[in-house]
Amino acid sequence: MKYYSTNRLSPEVDLRTAVTKGLAPDRGLYMPESVSELDLVFFAQMGTLTFQEMASRVASKLFGEDIPSEKLKEIVYETLSFDTPLVAVEQDIYALELFHGPTLAFKDVGARFMARMLAWFLGEGKATVHVLVATSGDTGSAVANGFLGIEGIKVHVLYPKGKVSEIQEKQFVTLGQNITALEVDGSFDDCQALVKAAFMDSELQQKMVLTSANSINVARFLPQAFYYFNAVAKLKEKQKKIVFSVPSGNFGNLTAGLIAKRMGLPVSRFIAANNSNDVVFNYLSSGNYNTKASVQTIANAMDVGDPSNFARILDLFDHDHTWISSVMTGTTYSDEQIKESLSSCFRETGYLCDPHGAVAYRALKEELKTDEVGIFLETAHPAKFTETVEDIIGKGNVPMPGRLAEFMKGEKKTVEMGVDFAAFKKYLVSVSY
Ligand SMILES: *Cc1c(COP(=O)(O)O)cnc(C)c1O
Repeated sequence: MKYYSTNRLSPEVDLRTAVTKGLAPDRGLYMPESVSELDLVFFAQMGTLTFQEMASRVASKLFGEDIPSEKLKEIVYETLSFDTPLVAVEQDIYALELFHGPTLAFKDVGARFMARMLAWFLGEGKATVHVLVATSGDTGSAVANGFLGIEGIKVHVLYPKGKVSEIQEKQFVTLGQNITALEVDGSFDDCQALVKAAFMDSELQQKMVLTSANSINVARFLPQAFYYFNAVAKLKEKQKKIVFSVPSGNFGNLTAGLIAKRMGLPVSRFIAANNSNDVVFNYLSSGNYNTKASVQTIANAMDVGDPSNFARILDLFDHDHTWISSVMTGTTYSDEQIKESLSSCFRETGYLCDPHGAVAYRALKEELKTDEVGIFLETAHPAKFTETVEDIIGKGNVPMPGRLAEFMKGEKKTVEMGVDFAAFKKYLVSVSY
């Protein structure tokens, strides 16, 4: 399969290049040149397959030409070592729980898949690959845990000292093995600047293989289609039209849903559920797309004012606003509305959302029609946002899952780093041997 850039100004590449480079040279995002439907036999059998079997068939349609089938199956099976259960919340509303992976957020699926695919493409015993990732919290933990223990790859997570929550920090500073956490005495932007400078440094480029684990990578974005199939397969309600409500920030998760639909998954429409960062909402309601600076909210993983994957959505629909609007609508909610929905859902149904899931739950409550059944994506475990959630529903109401408690016990190990590039470069040279 060839991959083209959404900007159409750089050559088509193969999967290996798309995955190892991440971004196209013209700064566009890579897209598969064709997305075709799975066959009727697959859809007839879907309900009887395990999640891993089903995902393997989807993966084979997407990546089968580029990776030997046994290897691809192994990557899928290792990635999906946990389930994504569909939980009934109330009449016609279900939660698709995507937080049963190692870091309790949906990014685990993409990060674990990408780590294994990258290892396959770069591996075969050659030089060690160094993955650099700057994080303001959640990405660092998903990437670090996704790559943990993978041979031939070393991950360096740069994060701003004192600016991530203790739970987030523990998820990448306690791992050891092939993961090093660099505690940078600066801001997230400083971390990102250091990573960018490393990629621009020709001496480093010669000395070592450097790559990023950015969320725009096709190997992180496409595997997210797997769990949409799993959700539809598990849904008992077969008569009504299916609507997915997706709490969105950079729109990778929702775009993967659109890909699943293109592959024939019977989904009627999508709701792009946003916090007060409303650029996509505004586009859907007016046809005008104007990015803006992000604003801070209690669903902070969706605080994005210039969503990177929106270019993919425009591309999938030939920039046709009418066509896009026939498949997705938008909602936008203030922090007050998010709190109110999290609280009423808990009170009335007993189901505890995290702040991101609460945005998507509210969108279904408001938008679902009588001939529809709604599934909202629960993208993180509420315990990842214990403080915020307990402020809303009261102390002691958020259970701490065992996996998270394990992280909290681990011992913090970091390399302290200033914001000057010279010191960071010296560090990288020292680990390149
Ligand atoms: C990253 C993230 C989102 C947003 O996902 P996108 O693919 O960027 O739209 C939503 N919820 C949580 C918990 C996240 O970590």
